[in-house]
Amino acid sequence: MIAQEIRKAYLDFFMERGHKVIPRALLMPYNDPTTLFTGSGMQPLIPYLLGEPHQDGTRLVDSQTCLRAQDIDEVGDNRHTTFFEMLGNWSLGDYFKAEQIPWFFEFLTDKIGLDPERIFVTCCSGFSAYNVPKDSESADIWAKLFKAKGLDAKQVEIGSEANGYEVGEQGGRIFFYDEKNWWSRNGAPKDVKNGEPCGPDTEMFYLFPSVQHDTKWGKYCHPNCDCGRYIELGNSVFMEYLKTDKGFEKLPAKNVDYGGGLERIAAAAIDSPDVFKISLLWPIIEKLQKLSGKSYDNHTNAMRVIADHLRGATFLAVDGVVPSNKEQGYVMRRLLRRAMRYAFELGIEQNFLEQIVPVITDMYHQDFPEVASKRQEVIDILVKEEKVFRQTLRAGVRELSKLSQDGLTGEEIFKLYDTYGFPVELSIEEAFKQEIEVSENWRMAFDTKMAEQRERSQTASKGAFKGGLGGQTLQHKKYHTATHLMYQALRDVLGDHVIQRGSNITEERLRFDFSHPEKVTPQQLEQVEAIVNEQINKDLQVTWAEYPTKEATGKLGALGQFGDRYGDTVKVYKMIADRAQKPFSFEICGGPHVDHTLQLIEDGKHFKIIKEESSSAGIRRIKAVLQ
Ligand code: ATP
Ligand code: MG
Repeated sequence: MIAQEIRKAYLDFFMERGHKVIPRALLMPYNDPTTLFTGSGMQPLIPYLLGEPHQDGTRLVDSQTCLRAQDIDEVGDNRHTTFFEMLGNWSLGDYFKAEQIPWFFEFLTDKIGLDPERIFVTCCSGFSAYNVPKDSESADIWAKLFKAKGLDAKQVEIGSEANGYEVGEQGGRIFFYDEKNWWSRNGAPKDVKNGEPCGPDTEMFYLFPSVQHDTKWGKYCHPNCDCGRYIELGNSVFMEYLKTDKGFEKLPAKNVDYGGGLERIAAAAIDSPDVFKISLLWPIIEKLQKLSGKSYDNHTNAMRVIADHLRGATFLAVDGVVPSNKEQGYVMRRLLRRAMRYAFELGIEQNFLEQIVPVITDMYHQDFPEVASKRQEVIDILVKEEKVFRQTLRAGVRELSKLSQDGLTGEEIFKLYDTYGFPVELSIEEAFKQEIEVSENWRMAFDTKMAEQRERSQTASKGAFKGGLGGQTLQHKKYHTATHLMYQALRDVLGDHVIQRGSNITEERLRFDFSHPEKVTPQQLEQVEAIVNEQINKDLQVTWAEYPTKEATGKLGALGQFGDRYGDTVKVYKMIADRAQKPFSFEICGGPHVDHTLQLIEDGKHFKIIKEESSSAGIRRIKAVLQ
């Protein structure tokens, strides 16, 4: 079966078992400011899994187009793509393990024709410290299914993923892992918040004996090993617990959430460990071989990246995204430009996208009417971006040769980026090609310039707002500092889902947009005001320091703004009462700010919220003053 047939067979199979087919959600999530893209079939269904009734009933099935920008660096291996389709089926308080596991097994073996001997599964080993038992229920169901196919399925305890590399497969077919086979929105059992549903999951893998285990991943191979010998086809989450004060209690209405990659199942169906060989990717590779005169075998990585990125960018265009410098548009631009750079390396120079994009739309137009109806529009959008990029490259390369007479500095790389839109990585690569020396601390110089520029553009937009008034007056700084205090206070009062979505400061007021699903009540606003005034009166010292970005956003937990992208290091402002304490506010920011918070109320003023309103779906807007 080819991928298109598998998609249809899957939907039919579950329709025959009482499921309603629901349409895919767009790649840009509607009404969910927490993420840029739809990355799983479950994501758009979260409200229903949390108890909201679904208009189509309690049994749902779909094929959800997904984009995982976070997998971009994994593209090039045999099984990850940024864009893929996730086949999904759901039970909303309807059937449970006894139906789901056999159905999926039947689908894989009897419908698709996979060899049961090459199917391996994992289940949850449980957490005795939290009174969550081992999921032997699922394991027993699997054991029976394998037995019916004449297979003895040995059960093996693995524990953590890391331990898998120490103990290996041990001839097992059913493996128990701990956190790897546990699902909640908050992660491990210790982190699950009260009121959250959660539960074990079971994952299905297909073994490709032709792939050699690579010890660079770990000593022994095991189902969750990253070498690509086992490929995860899908997993079923069984939401059977609710976390409460008393621990993990059984839910009366249990849900099933199954998600599995169409591309991976299609690869298994043609017995290929390489997903790029399937009917929804291979035509692109064939075209690339033709255009470049080069072979996939010798240029595997480049061709995989191009095929994946262009398929993703095409679907983004279908779903209404256009290349730009922010949010979804930025990711799209990055995918396109990266694909084009690889294409140039393969020697494909002229009218590249014009020749590839139709190959992609042809693979989908029958099953996705929107792809057919937007075909020309999509081609136009992508071809335009190719033109823009070529101009950028030409101008950038010319300028780079001029600038780099005696080595290339971070400031110059910034100039190329800022004035010509010349990608930073390209400057480095081009310098390398032309044997131009790049100054050692270029990254730091670049980031400093970048921070300064961000400040300038903020000032410029404030200026535009105020009819030409520019400059960073003391009044701006005060409101900027007040904004940081209010951001933290909003999170203290409303919760950690509050993320900055925009900010605008004038000499008269601050304006702040943030994610929050409902109106902020007058009582909550009062609390926020009280916290901000209390902190101002503590006369917090305002200082800043540079940190490696990973550390700042990771263990230090610095706040940022949604959609912001950072270099290797960031400037973080902290507002702190005394050194022994945790800072009240700790936020990534270019500045500038006042030096200490009493400056905000120096002439007998105090902080006051004057308006709270909706800004757009899921985003609230607050205006506040110092008066
Ligand atoms: P992996 O460990 O292989 O990255 P995952 O644990 O990230 O998978 P899930 O988030 O559980 O995967 O997604 C469910 C299914 O979607 C997977 O079993 C797999 O079949 C598919 N899938 C996930 N990520 C990708 C990807 N980048 N490309 C193709 N298919 C994917
Ligand atoms: Mg993954």
